[in-house]
Amino acid sequence: MTNPLDALFKPKAVALIGASQKELSIGNVIIKNLLFYNFNGPVYPINPKVEEIRGLKAYPSILAVPGDVDLVHIVIPPPFVPEEVENCGKKGVKAIIVNTAGFAEMGAEGEALQNDFLSRAKKYGIRVVGPNCQGIINSDPNFKAYCNFTFTFPEPGHISVVAQSGGVGAVILQAFYDMGIGVGMYASNGNGSDVSIPEIMRYYGEDDNCRVVVLYVESLDNPKEFMDVAREVSKKKPILAITAGRTDKGAEASRSHIGGLAGSISMELIFKKTGILGFTNQHDLCNAAVAFSYQPIPQGNRVGIITNTGGPSVIAIDELVSCGLELPQLSEKAASQLKETMLESASIHNPLDVVATAGPNHFKSALEVMLNEPQYDSIYINFVTPPFVDCESVAKEIVSAAAKSSKPVVCNYMTDKQKWQGTSSIFKAGEIPCFDFAETAARALSDLVRYKLMRSKKAGEIRAFTDVNKESVAAIISQAKSHNREVLSAREVYNIISAYNIPVAPWSIASDVTQAINSAESLGFPVVIKVDSEKYIHKSDVDGVAVNIRDAAAVREVVERMQRTLGNDIQFFIQQFLPHHRELIIGAKAETGVGHLIMFGLGGIFVEVLKDVAFTLSPVTDAEASELIDSIKAVALLHGFRGEKGVNTELLIEIIQRVSMLVVDFPEIRELDINPLFAYNDTMFAVDARIII
Ligand code: ADP
Ligand code: MG
Repeated sequence: MTNPLDALFKPKAVALIGASQKELSIGNVIIKNLLFYNFNGPVYPINPKVEEIRGLKAYPSILAVPGDVDLVHIVIPPPFVPEEVENCGKKGVKAIIVNTAGFAEMGAEGEALQNDFLSRAKKYGIRVVGPNCQGIINSDPNFKAYCNFTFTFPEPGHISVVAQSGGVGAVILQAFYDMGIGVGMYASNGNGSDVSIPEIMRYYGEDDNCRVVVLYVESLDNPKEFMDVAREVSKKKPILAITAGRTDKGAEASRSHIGGLAGSISMELIFKKTGILGFTNQHDLCNAAVAFSYQPIPQGNRVGIITNTGGPSVIAIDELVSCGLELPQLSEKAASQLKETMLESASIHNPLDVVATAGPNHFKSALEVMLNEPQYDSIYINFVTPPFVDCESVAKEIVSAAAKSSKPVVCNYMTDKQKWQGTSSIFKAGEIPCFDFAETAARALSDLVRYKLMRSKKAGEIRAFTDVNKESVAAIISQAKSHNREVLSAREVYNIISAYNIPVAPWSIASDVTQAINSAESLGFPVVIKVDSEKYIHKSDVDGVAVNIRDAAAVREVVERMQRTLGNDIQFFIQQFLPHHRELIIGAKAETGVGHLIMFGLGGIFVEVLKDVAFTLSPVTDAEASELIDSIKAVALLHGFRGEKGVNTELLIEIIQRVSMLVVDFPEIRELDINPLFAYNDTMFAVDARIII
């Protein structure tokens, strides 16, 4: 035994402190589960007041147990937990699952108790799962460890699940069970006070039986650890994950555009950045996991379809195509081969309709020929069970042809699973992922493709620009900090941006009418006049932006008006008036422990209305910047259309990377947005920006 988590997932003996004779208690259910699941070692109920529980001899204390115990459940009330942990230490226990709730999640008192038992565990080198958790399951026939109080008893399988929430974990476990799909290991670690989700992921990564990791995570105590482990494990096997809280509105009151638009999407970006395949619903996640655990990853997005019924293939095609898959036609050679082997009424195309009367040999030939075609990376099958066909033999042929190929085969198997149990179990034993609906099967296959495309994407390079002036930015920020200012002035913002060589429209600052006229004259008319005050962050909202000011008289009029309506203490920001082309936004927002969210999209005053923005995480590589640009809906506007010129995307990528470098160099920048960035087909200029530190 080398891995400390072996004591947890592969226990030789389990004790339960707080075991109870009461049927409806956790202290009874866990014993029941261990026995029902046929745990391979002794189970020791600990309870000083009774003789036996569920036919097992009860012991007054963990110290009274005769044999070695590597794993202990603790289900007693919080105040008694530290002392029992101490006893476990004396007994030589290696891992503890604290199922009891009422610790850090309840406030300071609970947190103190949690820290107390943790420090005792640490003293003895005991690893702790929980508190406030379900525990683990290991279906491996050598262990059969059901150290958990739930009610779903998985068959052995190659999917392993780790869930921050036991509720979500239990639902996922049940979903696999209902589909007849086994699960290797399962863990839900509650408060995660010691054994963490990344540690469990790493453990699954090292487990040869596990082919795919299914993860549910809401928040991260240590994002860096998570990202490092995710990168490491996802190199070995697919991690499929789901998070929650995408619609978090907490950030809405934010002072910058990006704050209001970002919500809490950073978990999904972390998935993306570390090679985890993200899902937005549990249904798709579970279906995909089945496909991943049974079939290889396709080399590309080209799919061949075999069907013995019409409508479902149309539905499948809709789903496949909308997920970006392609359906190349059969080669002439394949078509003529199939003409020989198929029934007269078959339709020799892609989709290949073998028709309902097709038997085992027709399916065999169809699948072999299509798998052999180099232009298909995967095969999708619709199989409805015709009562006039030897369906079991069809299933056998599908299984055997698929097994010989390195391309994935996914099946929409439409039938009554009771009446066609024989056929179903052939598919299952042959590891053909089967789904009840055409679009479900098509989606699962599409997720295999999505994974392939994600994994084969170029990482790109992080550019370190040498023409930047870090010292001047550091000076501006420390000056603002020393005055406890969070919102930087226009002068400070533009100086910072310019120091990172992000082009800005020529500007100057004025305090009164005379200075404003002088500034405008030296910049050259027409100009734009904006209020510059910490009070007015969204300037247009208070009529604090006047564009296309053509002469000195107009400057006077605007300045006097703003002084009247916005107060005499304001400054004026005078800027060259630039022609309109494309208005873009680039933003950054600090995320604790992760770096910065970087946002890009259509900018200007409509950004909140159209919300056509996309996000990534710093540091941004050139490939990521380019993908970011391509992922907004209005991307066509950037590339130009109908004779209209697009924008200089090379320069745009560079500016995004410069913003990324700025916030990486100065993590104290909490929020930054450049909105708008006026973009032309050659140059671009920031005409408005704000920075909050
Ligand atoms: P805020 O975002 O605080 O309301 P902006 O400085 O972004 O203020 O100005 C609002 C709008 O005015 C911009 O979205 C842009 O359309 C226009 N605008 C601002 N500066 C210029 C400029 N220098 N040239 C032309 N139009 C401008
Ligand atoms: Mg603006």
